[in-house]
Amino acid sequence: MSATWASSLRTGASLRVLDGFGRSVLSACRYVAPRSTEELMETLARAKSEELTVAFRGSGRSYGDAAMNERGLVVDTTRLNRVLRWEPGQGILEAEAGLTIEGLWRRTIEDGYWPAVVPGTMHPTLGGCVAMNIHGKNNFRVGPFGDHVLGLDLLTAGGDLISCSREENPDVFHAVIGGLGLLGAVVRVRLKLKQVKSGRLRVLAVTARSMDETFDLFEALLPKSDYVVGWTDCFARRGNLGRSALHAANYFEAGEDPDAQDSLHVEKQGLPASIFGLPKGGLWKLMRPFTNAPGMAFINALRFHTAHLASGSTYVQSHVAFAFLLDYVPNWRLAYGPGGLIQYQIFVPHGGARECFHDVLTLCQRHRQVPYLGVMKRHRPDAYLLSHALDGWSMAMDFRVTRRNRARLWALTQVLTERVLDAGGKFYFAKDAVLRPNDVDRAYGRARLDQFNALKQKLDPANLFASDLTRRAFG
Ligand SMILES: Cc1cc2nc3c(=O)[nH]c(=O)nc-3n(C[C@H](O)[C@H](O)[C@H](O)COP(=O)(O)OP(=O)(O)OC[C@H]3O[C@@H](n4cnc5c(N)ncnc54)[C@H](O)[C@@H]3O)c2cc1C
Repeated sequence: MSATWASSLRTGASLRVLDGFGRSVLSACRYVAPRSTEELMETLARAKSEELTVAFRGSGRSYGDAAMNERGLVVDTTRLNRVLRWEPGQGILEAEAGLTIEGLWRRTIEDGYWPAVVPGTMHPTLGGCVAMNIHGKNNFRVGPFGDHVLGLDLLTAGGDLISCSREENPDVFHAVIGGLGLLGAVVRVRLKLKQVKSGRLRVLAVTARSMDETFDLFEALLPKSDYVVGWTDCFARRGNLGRSALHAANYFEAGEDPDAQDSLHVEKQGLPASIFGLPKGGLWKLMRPFTNAPGMAFINALRFHTAHLASGSTYVQSHVAFAFLLDYVPNWRLAYGPGGLIQYQIFVPHGGARECFHDVLTLCQRHRQVPYLGVMKRHRPDAYLLSHALDGWSMAMDFRVTRRNRARLWALTQVLTERVLDAGGKFYFAKDAVLRPNDVDRAYGRARLDQFNALKQKLDPANLFASDLTRRAFG
């Protein structure tokens, strides 16, 4: 987020230039951060009377333009972050939607509960997790975030509060989860958490020397693991194309971890304040000289070979350390320089995934735009209307954006998108800055989009809720 200007809007909004987490897309928006649900209701009413569109913004951790609204109003929900009810006996938590995943686990871990699904960073809000229906490294086993939501309250464009769950207004429930904030503001979320017997996980680190080995190893690990994630060296070529380091983790059963009780303390979960004795705050500056193609080819190779030497090793790690690797270095995104990055995550059905991932990495190399980071996961389908999940595999890829490569990079993503669509694949809006309406039609299917639009028409007939993402990708 950068400059702030004064604004005389009756909504009490200021004008701000907002960015996505990747910093490669910017937007001048009116911005307001209500302190209560009542203020939020007033804000929506005023926006309507001023004929402004509204996009919600949690922690702004979506990489692209999902939480931006050029010339419209952006409503920041992070001040609405109270825990309203916590029932440790049941593992049920009710909170306002601005509570972050960090705020959640800090409240529940000492009672032996961990969020069943978390993203790779602890900063997103519950509202952001619902609206994107985020997935974790355990998607293949426990489904997405939405599968652990028991119920939620939605504030609609008409000013009504609608409670929804699998039993009450189930059509709204299944559309709001993964609904990109287009049907209203999620104001309350009721979640079922995962009971854990220890604050730690048992982790196995292994390497695979090619794309086929990566898939084979993944498939061998999936039935016996609670979490599996692959980090792919996207620079490796020919026979080594797709080589990866995989981490598989399991919960401890009761009595298995001698330090179980102690490990559940909040302070045992925190990330280290320094790395190699260096304070973390400025670490991204040390990464900066390596954040180019030769530097990242070197780092990826080094990381693979180091992992290969220790392949087969096991260790224990706190939930936080395993889940939130990307939070180790604060502000790492700044290392990408002023143009930032895009993350582009493809989802491909099981049958065609090996070949498709092979082709995608080959195309990136041929176009000399190689992702600096590649992360692979296994997924399963779910019941939400705009679900990005399927019975298959995803690869999330970070591409650096510069003034020189921007147009070429967008052109490359179009080629990749075609390849993924031909394989029957999908994409993930939290990681998107490039899709066009035709791509979305093909990925999600006209019937589903029409069903979503019909509900939108019912709940938000004047199209109050919109964002840069929805204008770009839905037309
Ligand atoms: C380092 C990093 C790692 C990540 N790892 C993963 C991962 O492993 N898996 C994964 O699935 N995602 C991952 N993400 C993406 C992230 O989890 C999602 O983008 C998430 O939606 C961010 O939450 P947020 O609170 O920042 O929401 P924002 O990015 O601010 O908003 C996201 C969407 O939610 C809507 N929204 C927000 N609050 C509300 C509300 N109260 N009511 C209605 N709509 C609302 C917004 O309008 C927008 O459409 C990662 C992101 C980062 C930066």
